[in-house]
Amino acid sequence: LMQLFRPLDLLGMVYRTIRQGLIDMKAMFDLADTDAEVKDIPGAPALAVTRGEVRFEHVRFGYEPDRQVLHDVSFTVPAGGTLAVVGPSGAGKSTLSRLLYRFYDLQGGRILIDGQDVARVTQDSLRRAIGIVPQDTVLFNDTIGFNIGYGREGAGPEEIEAAAKGAAIDEFIRALPDGYDAMVGERGLKLSGGEKQRVAIARTLLKDPPVLILDEATSALDSRTEAAIQRTLGAVAESRTSIVIAHRLSTIVDADQIIVLDAGRVAERGTHAELLARRGLYAEMWARQAAESDVDEVAVAAE
Ligand code: ATP
Repeated sequence: LMQLFRPLDLLGMVYRTIRQGLIDMKAMFDLADTDAEVKDIPGAPALAVTRGEVRFEHVRFGYEPDRQVLHDVSFTVPAGGTLAVVGPSGAGKSTLSRLLYRFYDLQGGRILIDGQDVARVTQDSLRRAIGIVPQDTVLFNDTIGFNIGYGREGAGPEEIEAAAKGAAIDEFIRALPDGYDAMVGERGLKLSGGEKQRVAIARTLLKDPPVLILDEATSALDSRTEAAIQRTLGAVAESRTSIVIAHRLSTIVDADQIIVLDAGRVAERGTHAELLARRGLYAEMWARQAAESDVDEVAVAAE
């Protein structure tokens, strides 16, 4: 039955997208393309999330057959726990989240949510269970209220406002001349990186998924905005299983578990304190970032 629904879903999406004037058409077609790469198996059941445990077992993957990006990656995020993933650029961090969301199928191993293989449940049920706060949020040329409400079909104005409050963007919106009806996007108000991220957080709050992926932006926000966003994200992640892809180590010192990915392999794993004590790759990255942030602070002080 789902096989039958999928093309209709896609058509509906294309129609809504054109009607609403999606800014990034390419992103949508990319999405449609990647969608075609994975298929529901006939008669696939819906994912039944009971606790929200996420498990990668010996995952092997490459975007192209002759170039492997992940080699034998294994980890478990207990229900409600937080896993932080760090590592050099190109190590495969964002790829982990694309695989959990099943944009692609694996070349080896399994990814399980509460013991169910993500490749053997319906994509629809899988994607309803996972919320992603991406590095870069795509905004529609529509009202800011619409952009938040997009997180869940049929959300009412009170729910949208509650989500905006949770993401600490409600005050900002109220101060706009048109409030929640203010137009945003290319043909409207341009939002800053931090504001866009808050819209994404509000969307995710509305969706209320048991599993959360936070893909931290590489471009640094100013340190006050950054700290405020981190607090908001911390609250959002509190009651859910969370995977945080982090570029700044200062944001993940409290994570239950940190894995250091290096060239597609788990090079180190442990808590912040354990990893510092190892004096390996993580300790090196920490020392380097600490030195850089000292320089930043000196620069700010000199302004
Ligand atoms: P960053 O910290 O820079 O965001 P990352 O650790 O998240 O990097 P990934 O985005 O997971 O890295 O990419 C891992 C590898 O896979 C890189 O070598 C990248 O070039 C490659 N890659 C990523 N996306 C694709 C794609 N769509 N097609 C082919 N190769 C890709």
